[in-house]
Amino acid sequence: MELKQILKLIVDEERASRYLQRFRWYGKPSCLRCGSCSLLYLSDKRYECRSCSSRFSDFSGTYLAGTKLSSSEVLLGVKLFESGLSAREAAKQVEVNYKSMLRLFHTIRQAMVDYNHQANRDPLSGEVEMDEAYFSVASAREKGAEELRIRFLYSA
Ligand SMILES: [Zn+2]
Repeated sequence: MELKQILKLIVDEERASRYLQRFRWYGKPSCLRCGSCSLLYLSDKRYECRSCSSRFSDFSGTYLAGTKLSSSEVLLGVKLFESGLSAREAAKQVEVNYKSMLRLFHTIRQAMVDYNHQANRDPLSGEVEMDEAYFSVASAREKGAEELRIRFLYSA
């Protein structure tokens, strides 16, 4: 999504929520416990199932479950993650708690790893780009060249 589209969404929390709901529910929310589509939408932006009284939000059962960020903050956070900002800088830009943004960044990374795992892709295949890396250097006599090469590959 382009930055211009993100900016249109984040100025209106309801619009940002509707945008994320489309991806979450594919048009029609349903109870996470019983699958019923007969739901009440509560003032705290959660749903209550009319069949089993279960309560849940748009983020329940997703990577974003338990986030304290609003939909617009999540969208902007994802865009800033994509642009390469640190979680600390992104938290400043979005004006949210650093730990909340850090958690979102961890969640995004975990989702990317899971996606690669589900698609049976090697996360370090192809071209791997690193901004920063730390290596422990040992002499070839002590550890052997093969071990050094392996360390390099898995430090990304
Ligand atoms: Zn239910």
